[in-house]
Amino acid sequence: MQEFYNETFLNAQKQLDHVARMMNLDTGIHERLRYPRKALIVSVPIKLDNGQTRVYSGYRVQHDQSLGPTKGGIRFHHEVNLGEVAALAMWMTWKCALLNLPYGGAKGGVCCFPEEMSTAEMERLARRYTTEILSMIGPEKDIPAPDMYTNEQTMAWIMDTYSNFIGYAVPGVVTGKPVAVGGSLGRREATGRGVAHTIKMALEKMDLGDRPTAAVQGFGNVGSITAKYLDLQGVKVVAVSDVQGGIHNPNGLDIPRLLNYVADRGTVIGFDDLDSMDNKDLLELDVDILVPAALANVVTEHNADKLKCKILAEGANGPVTPEADKILQEKGVFIIPGILANAGGVVVSYFEWVQDIQHLFWTEDQVNEKLAYLMGRAFEEVYNVSQAKKVDNRTAAMMIGVGRVASAKILRGLYP
Ligand code: NAD
Repeated sequence: MQEFYNETFLNAQKQLDHVARMMNLDTGIHERLRYPRKALIVSVPIKLDNGQTRVYSGYRVQHDQSLGPTKGGIRFHHEVNLGEVAALAMWMTWKCALLNLPYGGAKGGVCCFPEEMSTAEMERLARRYTTEILSMIGPEKDIPAPDMYTNEQTMAWIMDTYSNFIGYAVPGVVTGKPVAVGGSLGRREATGRGVAHTIKMALEKMDLGDRPTAAVQGFGNVGSITAKYLDLQGVKVVAVSDVQGGIHNPNGLDIPRLLNYVADRGTVIGFDDLDSMDNKDLLELDVDILVPAALANVVTEHNADKLKCKILAEGANGPVTPEADKILQEKGVFIIPGILANAGGVVVSYFEWVQDIQHLFWTEDQVNEKLAYLMGRAFEEVYNVSQAKKVDNRTAAMMIGVGRVASAKILRGLYP
C-alpha cells in the first residue's frame, strides 16, 4: 500500500485513526477502512490540436462499498496523484454515510493542465479516460460526478462515451450532467448552496452580529455559488479569489455584478479596479467566516495561528491539515468539516441518480427543499454529537459517518 502514501492520504488516515480511537472501533474494521478497496491507474493518450501525442496519468479509486455503489467526482488538475485521489475517495465514504446516502466513496482524476487545453483536447481526454476506467464504472457500480476543472459538459461526454460502449443511453452512469441529458435541476448550484446553508445554521448557534463578513478562496462552482448565497443571506462578502489571485473590498463586494464579470472575463482579477491580493493573505483577513473552496492543504501549521475567522467552512475537500486543525480548535474556531459543508453536491447527485433510474424528474423547488432537509438534519446530528461527546465538529461528523460504515461492515461480515 506504500504507493498511496502522500501527505493528503496520510492526513485522511490520521483523521480516521483519531476517530477510531475515540469510538473504540473494532481493530479489524479500522484496518479495513484505512485502505481503498480498489484502485486503477491508467495511461490516457490523446492527440493534441498541434498533431502531437501526449500521455496523461489517470486514476480511479473506490474506497468502500459497504453501503452501496461508490460515488465521487473526477478532477482534472496538475497536482492529481494516486494518494490524493485515494484520500478524496475515503472522505467521500464518510460524507455519503454522514448524509445517509446509499453509497460508498470513490474519486477519480487525470493529472493534466486543463487551463492550457482546448475544448477539443478536453473532450478527447474525458472520452479516453472514460474508456480506460470503463470496467470500474456503471450506474450500479461506481458513479462519477464533476470536481475541479470538470463540469456538466465533461459529464455529458462521459455519459455519451459509456453509453456508446453499452449500446444504449445510460444517464445514471454519471451525475452533474446537463439537464437536457438527464441532469437534475438544482445540481449545478447544490454544493455552494449547501455550504451557505451550513454557515447559516452555524450562525444561528453563535452571535456574530447583524452583518458578519466572509472571505471565499476559489471562485469556481463551489466558491462562486457559496458567495452568491452568503450574499443573499445577508453576509458581507469582502474578499474572493481564484487561481490568479484575490480581490478585497472591506465595504463588501457586489456579488451579483461580480458573478457576471467572472462569466465574461473568467477571473475575479480587475473587478471594480480593486488591487489584487495574494491567495495566502486572503486566508488571514480579519473576517468572521472563511470558506476555502479551491485546493487541499491550504491551512497548515504555518498559517493556522494567523487566521482570524470564527467560522471556517470547508468548501474544498481537505483544506485544513490535521496539525492546523488542532491549532484552530484551540483558538475556538467553529469548523464545518468538508464532509458536511460541501456535501450538497453529492446529495443532489444522489437525487439526480434516483431521478435517472426512475425516469421521473422533480422540480427545482422539490430538489432544493430536500437538499435543505438533508443538510439541516446532518448539521444538527453533528452539532448534537459534538456537544454530547465534547468533541470538535470534524470528529463528530466522522464518528457518525465511520460508525454507519462500520455497522454495515459488521452486519455484512468479512468475505469469504
Ligand atoms: P472549479 O474548477 O469549478 O473551481 C476551482 C476554483 O479554484 C477556480 O476558481 C480556480 O481558479 C481556483 N483555484 C485553482 N487553483 C487555485 C489556487 N492555487 N489558489 C486559489 N484558487 C485556486 O472546482 P470546484 O468544483 O468549485 O471545486 C473546488 C473544491 O471543492 C475542490 O476541492 C473540490 O474537490 C471541492 N468540491 C466540489 C464539489 C462540486 O460539486 N463541484 C463538491 C464537493 C467538493
